[in-house]
Amino acid sequence: MSEERSLNFIEEIVEEDIAAGKHGGRVLTRFPPEPNGYLHIGHAKSICLNFGLALKYNGSTNLRFDDTNPVTEDTEYVDSIKEDVKWLGFNWASELYASDYFDLIYAFAVKLIEAGLAYVDDSTSEEIAAQKGTPTEPGTPNQYRSRSVEENLRLFTEMKEGKYPDGAKVLRAKVDLASPNMLMRDPVMYRIKHAHHHRTGDKWCIYPMYDFAHGQSDSIEQITHSICTLEFVPHRAMYDWFIEKLGIFPSKQYEFARLNMTYTVMSKRKLLQLVKEGHVEDWDDPRMPTISGLRRRGYTPGSIREFCERIGVAKRENMIDVSLLEFCIREELNKTAWRRMAVLDPVKCIITNFPEGLEEIHFGENNPEVEGGDGGRDIPFSRELWIERDDFMEEPPKKFFRLGPGLMVRLKNAYIIKCDDFVKDADGNVTEIHCSYIPESRSGNDTSGINVKGTIHWVSVAHAKTAEVRLYERLFKVEDPSSEEGDFKDFLNPDSLQTITAFVEPELVNMEAGKPCQFMRKGYFTLDKTSTADRLVFNRTVTLKDSWAKK
Ligand code: ATP
Ligand code: MG
Repeated sequence: MSEERSLNFIEEIVEEDIAAGKHGGRVLTRFPPEPNGYLHIGHAKSICLNFGLALKYNGSTNLRFDDTNPVTEDTEYVDSIKEDVKWLGFNWASELYASDYFDLIYAFAVKLIEAGLAYVDDSTSEEIAAQKGTPTEPGTPNQYRSRSVEENLRLFTEMKEGKYPDGAKVLRAKVDLASPNMLMRDPVMYRIKHAHHHRTGDKWCIYPMYDFAHGQSDSIEQITHSICTLEFVPHRAMYDWFIEKLGIFPSKQYEFARLNMTYTVMSKRKLLQLVKEGHVEDWDDPRMPTISGLRRRGYTPGSIREFCERIGVAKRENMIDVSLLEFCIREELNKTAWRRMAVLDPVKCIITNFPEGLEEIHFGENNPEVEGGDGGRDIPFSRELWIERDDFMEEPPKKFFRLGPGLMVRLKNAYIIKCDDFVKDADGNVTEIHCSYIPESRSGNDTSGINVKGTIHWVSVAHAKTAEVRLYERLFKVEDPSSEEGDFKDFLNPDSLQTITAFVEPELVNMEAGKPCQFMRKGYFTLDKTSTADRLVFNRTVTLKDSWAKK
């Protein structure tokens, strides 16, 4: 967890409210996802903020599905959202659905009609848009605006009863057609949509719009602090207007800057396109900025919460470098991940003075960052080893402290070896490296007196397991694909996934799904959900260092 920090502006507001005894000092927030896609890291920020406030001020948080748009919503999304919020480590007080309030919201609408504050409009959406005017010109009222209360009540009832087709009529609030805020120019409250809803079925064929559902739902639940992103600033006037005119619980809306992150897109609509068009495997593809994608990639809840804490709560839009997210997971995994050896680009190394058929067991700590090493494991050693191809150079430059003709290096947890010779094939590729080992240099009991600068990892050929290893790079080639001209998909990185076959130490067959490990010198990895004991599959969570910056 991070050290003490100063209050963010929303915490300041909450503390003032508590000090003033507002709502009896009670704090109730909500996280209100629309179940039309999987949650992404931007939502994680909103989750951490809403649940975090409640935790800090002895309050609670509702999980409310904002399911007022029957066409795009699905229970698959509801389930994934619940799983992701729980996984992030938060518990909601109540699981609620805006659709549960459809009767109440309908009654609110009738109340506004009766008060002369809402009317049924037969105009098309184009006509309504044209009559709204422009930011510099006021809108013009049409003939429907002066309909009587009785006529409005009758027509609205008929809308509800299914007498009219989609788009034939809408219910609008009668606010102010000259307001400088275009959203106040008689916004639509209800539209006709003959569509099946994933919870209410075919009961309704009219559905409330965002502005006439969100604040009402907040108020019904007696939410004290309704926190949303900056694009809702212009909606706040309607939020307050409806609550005031209805005389219902005075929830208040506060806005913060949404999270934008480099080299990705952060809109469910765009992420859905990537899934539907097969640019990624699914919503949980490890390259996706979704919570489920990050989880499959090997991110932990703690690292995501830490990231959200570090970026803070801003009032102005900004772009967060994805390296910060990577930094957070690296920091955590360095402390927790068990070290293992895996050779990703293998070449054979033969220890010519080690007897054929002999096997030795060497010991390796699980994690040297932990006092006592966090236990350890046995590592089999034999005459033939796999080492990384780039740990050998035929003509090494001066400061190359690994293998080359005549050079010495330490094999991690084992011996110092000296390169005596190498073999090349007809194409000039090195196929074998011949070395001799120094028996007195055994790790933990080194009496050789030889000092070498480099240490390399290795895996015994006879004992190695093969594994499919998936190396991920950024999903997009440019920092902000959404702001580029043309389709954001034109900027997908064609090399965002590289699949290789690696040799790993045998102990890795005992690896538990979801547990992180460090392939020494190579990065942090985790088992993919498709991995089996017969066919190991690893995802690279993150490299050991920020290698992107150098490119
Ligand atoms: P998207 O544009 O990705 O579809 P959305 O805002 O439509 O996102 P909702 O399901 O309506 O998605 O969002 C639920 C909550 O999460 C809202 O309060 C919203 O303000 C917040 N949220 C969404 N995206 C971000 C983001 N990038 N950063 C912070 N909060 C976000
Ligand atoms: Mg939304």
